[in-house]
Amino acid sequence: MSRKKILVTGGAGFVGSHLCERLLNEGNEVYCLDNYFTGQKQNVVHLLNNPYFELIRHDVTAPFFIETDEIYNLACPASPVHYQYNAIKTMKTSVMGAINMLGLAKRVNAKILQASTSEVYGDPLVHPQTETYWGHVNPIGERACYDEGKRSAETLFVNYHKQNNVKIKIIRIFNTYGPKMHPNDGRVVSNFIVQALQNKDITVYGEGNQTRSFQYVDDLVEGMIRLMNSADSFTGPVNVGNPNEFTILELAQKVIELTGSKSKIIFQPLPSDDPMQRQPDITLAKKELDWSPKINLDEGLLKTIDYFKSIV
Ligand code: NAD
Ligand code: UDP
Repeated sequence: MSRKKILVTGGAGFVGSHLCERLLNEGNEVYCLDNYFTGQKQNVVHLLNNPYFELIRHDVTAPFFIETDEIYNLACPASPVHYQYNAIKTMKTSVMGAINMLGLAKRVNAKILQASTSEVYGDPLVHPQTETYWGHVNPIGERACYDEGKRSAETLFVNYHKQNNVKIKIIRIFNTYGPKMHPNDGRVVSNFIVQALQNKDITVYGEGNQTRSFQYVDDLVEGMIRLMNSADSFTGPVNVGNPNEFTILELAQKVIELTGSKSKIIFQPLPSDDPMQRQPDITLAKKELDWSPKINLDEGLLKTIDYFKSIV
């Protein structure tokens, strides 16, 4: 079997670093590209001795040229705190990053997968969310730079496919957690675990009755690779997430229980436009990719807690 050359943008981030490792383990040559905004070399340092791994500092808002067979386009901050820090840059990363990577895919005839998001559904009025739902997004709200950036990227992908025959794949990822999330990432699972391990107050925003459906990172990586390897005729978009839905208050209680923490739960203001509910309908992923999540919340949280114990 010949070794595939695979470019992973955002490869030094949380999901990207898991994906790079898995692709290398499967015998591929991996180019990991990152500007280290929210990612870090530390996430991939253990791969640097592998002669088939290459780490490249680059910002996807600038064009990039390499010979490659596949591109996984993950570059983009994913935590609300970080993507709102420089909203214009976030949109540039999504939109110009998509244009640059699609241009590359077109030039070298590579297959390209876009890491899209459940955020394209906004604060959804349809529950659970199916891929046919067009979403409910505030185009001028605090989350718009991310949501609309990702929606625009999907549009670009679909049009490069229609106009230029670029082989595309769009995956809509639902809330994913696991080892290698940055302790200051700001997303709920890492916040709660770090707070619990340090016996600090657990910060629930709002009343904690908003819901999310949490997927362990290994399940996501499996879904991404299955999508990339699916028939060219299947472009997605396809939801990949764990349909088990929990309130944020339930998550806080679970993290306290699993860590044996003395932390108390406190309530802080709910950020604007925070979606009230989110649950993937994964019928399409089951049918087209023969994929469903394998790791339940308790099991995934325990693995993630072990990781954070080793670093905080
Ligand atoms: P992350 O913030 O850990 O990783 C993003 C990576 O992209 C980081 O390494 C960052 O430095 C890099 N990056 C950001 N801007 C860049 C730029 N302009 N040029 C080059 N690199 C850049 O987040 P993550 O959770 O690993 O998310 C990875 C991808 O998956 C993102 O595209 C995100 O939108 C998508 N996604 C993640 C989730 C989730 O729950 N983890 C859910 C939906 C979608
Ligand atoms: N959240 C919370 N406390 C925190 C961080 C987040 O209650 O310390 C809430 C947040 O308001 C949202 C949910 O947890 O309702 C998930 O937030 P996250 O930032 O992880 O992801 P997203 O909102 O993008 O799904």
